[in-house]
Amino acid sequence: MSRLIETIAEKLHLIPNLRTEKFAELTRLTEPGDLTNYPPPDKWDAWVEYDAKSWPRRVPKNYMIVPTSCFNCEAGCGLLSYIDKETMQVRKFEGNPYHPGSRGRNCAKGPATINQINDTDRILYPMKRSGKRGDGHWQRVSWDEVLDDIAGRIREALKEDRRNEVVYHVGRPGHEGYIDRILQSWGVDGHNSHTNICSAGARFGYAIWHGFDRPSPDHANAKFILLISAHLESGHYFNPHAQRIIEGMMNGAKLAVMDPRLSNTASMADYWLPTYPGSEAAVLLAIAKIILDENLHNEDFMKNWVNWQEYLEKEKPQVELTFANFIGAIKEEYKDYTPEFAEQESGVPARQIIDVAKLIGRAGTQFATHNWRSAGSGNLGGWAVARCLHFLNVLTGSVGTMGGTSPSGWNKFKPNVFDKPPAQKFWNELHFPNEYPLAHYEMSFLLPHFLKEARGKLAVYFTRVFNPVWTYPDGFSWIEVLIDENKIGVHAALTPTWNETAYFADYALPMGHASERHDIISYETHSGMWIAFRQPVLREAARRMGKPVTFTYETNPGEVWEEDEFWIELSWRIDPDGSLGIKQHFISPYRPDEKITIDEYYRYIFEHTAGLPEAAAKEGLTPLDYMRKYGAFEVEKPSYNKHLQEISNPEMQGASADSKTNSIVKNGKNIGVVVDGIPRVGFPTPSRKQEFYSQTVVDWKWPEYKIPTYIKSHVHSEKIDFDKGEFPLIPTFRLPTLIHSRSGNAKWLAEISNRNPLWMHTKDAGRFGLKTGALVRVNTDIGYFVDRVWVTEGMKPGVVACSHHLGRWRRHQDPAGNRWATNLVTIEQLESGKWKMRQTDGIRPYKSPDPDSTRIFWSDGGVHQNITFPVHPDPISGMHCWHQKVRIEKARSEDRYGDVFVDTNKSFEIYKKWLAMTRPAPGPNGLRRPLWLNRPLRPVEETFYLKAKKG
Ligand code: SF4
Repeated sequence: MSRLIETIAEKLHLIPNLRTEKFAELTRLTEPGDLTNYPPPDKWDAWVEYDAKSWPRRVPKNYMIVPTSCFNCEAGCGLLSYIDKETMQVRKFEGNPYHPGSRGRNCAKGPATINQINDTDRILYPMKRSGKRGDGHWQRVSWDEVLDDIAGRIREALKEDRRNEVVYHVGRPGHEGYIDRILQSWGVDGHNSHTNICSAGARFGYAIWHGFDRPSPDHANAKFILLISAHLESGHYFNPHAQRIIEGMMNGAKLAVMDPRLSNTASMADYWLPTYPGSEAAVLLAIAKIILDENLHNEDFMKNWVNWQEYLEKEKPQVELTFANFIGAIKEEYKDYTPEFAEQESGVPARQIIDVAKLIGRAGTQFATHNWRSAGSGNLGGWAVARCLHFLNVLTGSVGTMGGTSPSGWNKFKPNVFDKPPAQKFWNELHFPNEYPLAHYEMSFLLPHFLKEARGKLAVYFTRVFNPVWTYPDGFSWIEVLIDENKIGVHAALTPTWNETAYFADYALPMGHASERHDIISYETHSGMWIAFRQPVLREAARRMGKPVTFTYETNPGEVWEEDEFWIELSWRIDPDGSLGIKQHFISPYRPDEKITIDEYYRYIFEHTAGLPEAAAKEGLTPLDYMRKYGAFEVEKPSYNKHLQEISNPEMQGASADSKTNSIVKNGKNIGVVVDGIPRVGFPTPSRKQEFYSQTVVDWKWPEYKIPTYIKSHVHSEKIDFDKGEFPLIPTFRLPTLIHSRSGNAKWLAEISNRNPLWMHTKDAGRFGLKTGALVRVNTDIGYFVDRVWVTEGMKPGVVACSHHLGRWRRHQDPAGNRWATNLVTIEQLESGKWKMRQTDGIRPYKSPDPDSTRIFWSDGGVHQNITFPVHPDPISGMHCWHQKVRIEKARSEDRYGDVFVDTNKSFEIYKKWLAMTRPAPGPNGLRRPLWLNRPLRPVEETFYLKAKKG
């Protein structure tokens, strides 16, 4: 039909003749097979497409197609860049069908990478502040000057043994192991991350069960999927997960979603369970009780793989050590978690909980679950939500099964690097303070308070794709310490764009976007295992065209560099003569005594990736060239039950089996479990089993949480006075098209999502006499923000929500950045610690080389809510508990949309209040932290002891 219309239009001269001889040789862009819209790889060096902008004329364009990986969330989906051979510019990004995780698909943020690389506001050259820190004055400097200055400061700190003063703080990670290698080559305990404002709560809940700290659900083969997240639209690895959830549902799986908000995911579910925030664990334990009462639990799995004997011995020493007694005892433990109790806590009808519980029980080993930020990151005790969720996997025996939920580490590839420096001999108490011995990651959001308390200071502070002033709670406390040169000697912000934190740095160092740098990625997106290559596509295109490139900035815009090369060059300059022992870790494995190049670094990894050299050889390629060509490699096909791996005979030498527990003991440690007469490796826990009973939790002074337990949140309904206008606020949810503070430079994304109103149920709005668009003041414990209300039936009554993605800002004195998304603001310090921010203008059209900047039609950039939140460190997991108890009132006469007020003196008081809830180290044997739990950038074992090691 369209061809007919086209022909008639041609005949009537409404459009030009589209089928002239000139274009006849071009074939349509299809090939046989499922992925019909992707060009075949044998044409990637010479691909012809018509230029969309020239329509209706057919103007052919010649492209080179180079793969890379998206960086707009953690999923690391594959991208194909289309490079115009005439201009050597990237024309567009599409999906890479050879990427095993994303399989050619992307969300809106993947293709929007093109906006980011063409952003006319981006930082193109290294910049150094020229006025007082934070004053907004900058001048261009050379990379040499930057490297020499920073290298000199680090050298001095190392020589003076001020090793805890050199810190690298990362927002969005990546660089599998790369930066750990750098920091350990310097001998510093200098890794800090954003994880404790993100996922550390849920991670701890998983780790305490089985050592691995994330779930890897096999959605595609599940019969029942339970999400405490919004994985069809957002959340970790959401695009790879969403496509597999849909596959599972197309094959008959049922989906249940716990969320007080009717997210896109909840709207697609068979069962939406709108739980009151923090009540999720009560519902999960009610489900557990029903599974037990109905005898739907998996006896085989539990008998072999749960440490039930330990539980009975410690908790019920009077009863005989039988599995039946264990089941009897835990039925007793959970007898109060009736569906009616769960309904009372959560507001979800008991009938619905019973229905879901029975379906989960019947799904058995094909039960897939996921809990990412969401409840795990919102609540005091949020880690217990993940723990109770995993309990359901344990009860149904769906741990590591087809259609079940595997531990993350089974599906994530770890690269082999050419050189591994020794672990550092220092413990940085600014990152892992004694008050938080079980903190799953660094207590990064407490850094401003620790610096204010003079617990330490920083000589060199790197922030990388990290914007705590805007993303973290308590951003004004961050500003207060960032501008204090006595607390931070030099702050280098490694960032592609200006942001609210870079404005308070000494150096703003431009780093590449996804397609402008090297990196490798691997995540547990499904039951297989893969590795993907992020590569600077213009550099690769130049190489293919025979143009040698020494440093990536030679092919990037301006002097935009990449971290990988930056760290090599910096390390070399810290230790030019090798006397500090650093230089030796940067010598090429292929050319004796010479500095390693970035190609050699990745060449070594790919040459040592199982199966990759063979796959490459089949195509006549080296492993590095294979990855340059395809951008990804499947290291392992779907596989399950890795805990059943047999322990080898040599490893069994000197080991013996415990007759009560079947544990295999060697040198005083459990190394596996005998199951069906075969020694199996099990899980990386002290018992090598799933730890229903946690001696670790008991030893570290929290005996009340020795088994999966419901912990009442700090926003539990008992603590909310609804008559006074109080609500729990959910500030954690992601918008599907935004990426925290990093999407401000993507015009397509800002066009789609540019406001973050307060979600409020119709009944609540009626109570206040509010209509959509009404202005309210949302009071937190340290200040307030002023936002508009969105009245909706899609919110649980009695709960309000606001996405954290919007409310980006710049001050009048700051360099223009992210103007698709940043409001202009003034910031005043009214008196000590009392900060007021006011929006003086919203988003406006502006002139730039990109004509779209004059076509901006939206004016609202949203409201910055996170800055009005105090820190809420969970005393166990260390996770910041994001949910807030807020008091809502109609805006006052002096209030304007976007107003923010904060008192940092109050935020310090609240920090102290939460700090008092901790039960500090030492634990057993004078330890700072249990030895068996992982720690990022793990130092030598001696440092785990607060005092000299016992014995
Ligand atoms: S899910 Fe979207 S943003 Fe995340 S890596 Fe994939 S394409 Fe990029």
